[in-house]
Amino acid sequence: MQQPLLISSLLEHAERHHGDQQIVSRRVEGDLHRQSFAQLAQRARRLANALAACRVAGGSRVATLAWNGHRHLELYFAVSGSGAVLHTLNPRLHADQLAWIVEHAEDEVLCFDAGFLPLVEAIAPRVRTVRHYVVMTDRAHMPAATSIDGLLCYEDLLAAQDDRYVWPQLDENTASSLCYTSGTTGHPKGVLYSHRSTLLHTYAAALPDALNCSARDAILPVVPMFHVNAWGLPYIACMVGAKLVFPGPALDGASLHALIESEQVTLSAGVPTVWQGLLAHVEGRDLRFSSMRRTVVGGAACPPSMTRAFQQRHDVQVVHAWGMTELSPLGTVCSFKGRHDALDASQREALQARQGRAVFGIDMKIVGDDGAELPWDGRASGELLVRGPWVVSRYLNGDAGDPLVADEQGRRWFPTGDVATIDPDGYMQITDRAKDVIKSGGEWIGSIDIENIAMAHPDVVQAACIAVPHPKWDERPLLVVVRKPGARLTRDDMLAFFAGKIAKWWTPDDVVFVDAIPLGATGKVLKSRLRETYRGHRLPGA
Ligand code: AMP
Repeated sequence: MQQPLLISSLLEHAERHHGDQQIVSRRVEGDLHRQSFAQLAQRARRLANALAACRVAGGSRVATLAWNGHRHLELYFAVSGSGAVLHTLNPRLHADQLAWIVEHAEDEVLCFDAGFLPLVEAIAPRVRTVRHYVVMTDRAHMPAATSIDGLLCYEDLLAAQDDRYVWPQLDENTASSLCYTSGTTGHPKGVLYSHRSTLLHTYAAALPDALNCSARDAILPVVPMFHVNAWGLPYIACMVGAKLVFPGPALDGASLHALIESEQVTLSAGVPTVWQGLLAHVEGRDLRFSSMRRTVVGGAACPPSMTRAFQQRHDVQVVHAWGMTELSPLGTVCSFKGRHDALDASQREALQARQGRAVFGIDMKIVGDDGAELPWDGRASGELLVRGPWVVSRYLNGDAGDPLVADEQGRRWFPTGDVATIDPDGYMQITDRAKDVIKSGGEWIGSIDIENIAMAHPDVVQAACIAVPHPKWDERPLLVVVRKPGARLTRDDMLAFFAGKIAKWWTPDDVVFVDAIPLGATGKVLKSRLRETYRGHRLPGA
């Protein structure tokens, strides 16, 4: 049968086949809220009616500024399902940038968690497109005073509506949701997903060698729903009927561990910086994970020291994944092949430092400076290019021109800006962001390798390796380190730790110790900021 691939079909399936499955949300109101998939579907239909009452039409953008929770999930389905576009905003961005993005996207409705009211009040006077501001809470928790006229209450909107609503049979190529790239340089760019691209991504991401999700799982997306659709987990949970556990704003180690235990989470997903907090909490108190079997680590390289901690000390399998906003986000996942069973633990951990194999749907290759494809030998490193049905073809409004490049056969590829190697088995390993590459004497130095080694030192909490100008070699690596509280690690200890682990000329020229390393809005190290700070740093012997 010719049937469009629609996001609403995920919800209908979840309601019909997994109606009693639970969605548990730690809410900004402070409570732990529970509802079933059947209730989710019912409330999403009410919300779709409410959106229609607010004159949200097909293609209209509805923005959210919210933590992970059931109301955000209801918006995921009601907005996209009714033919409008869900635009998830990142609350960690500055108000100026958010105002720019809201205007650029022409958002008409902005739904937000009550805690973000000050941020919304800062944005509101600067945006002309938004017609309605909706606080995602009930009447009892509505803000008493606000500078925003006609603030709407989410629960009031739902209560005023019927739960009968028939999801429209849209063209599967209709736009469903919108995310902006992190944009460390220049303005952020919009990436528009379609129902079709989202459904195909959901199928692929749920597969056993990808995120391996089933109806027996309880999934905790720590990765925010405002960052590339929480890596697709809300859609996956509906497709497979998995329990969903949302942490709300409580992302510290203690809160996450308590939630994982009380809800018997089996699978979680997040960036390395969040897992650092969780591991520090658990190890400081000799706690255990009684149910969690796997954790997906992505968004930044997962250091082998973290893989070891999870797997050897806690029996939690690490699933290292790579992706980006332009890919909805999943591109590769590091899962084993049968013959890797013969490897010992340390060999398996070494393999897991790689970002893994392409999931079906993603084709990838690496190219040199001349654009020619490089061999899959695990050594040659070049820019990573991808193609596939959930890869961006152009940015919103055609910003930044045509991002794709054509090969000799006329096939079009998206240059990711990541630099990588691919081994003969097809395991890709990111060595750097192209703009973060350190070029010493014309040769590349892989900053991620250096950071991974530094992070394996027991006294190191976090490390970032950046290029600083050098009179002879153009650039040399500088290592910026956050020490564990009370640790006495010195520069010389740190540098000695690299001996025998990498080529000598890759060893950083200097180490600086700092209290904190600057992170961007999606939890990635802001290397551009570090490079600015240390541009004038005098390296010994330079
Ligand atoms: P974003 O679009 O904000 O999700 O950022 C995507 C970028 O994050 C990629 O292009 C990579 O540079 C980086 N990234 C994502 N996952 C990984 C990973 N597992 N290892 C290294 N870098 C990663």
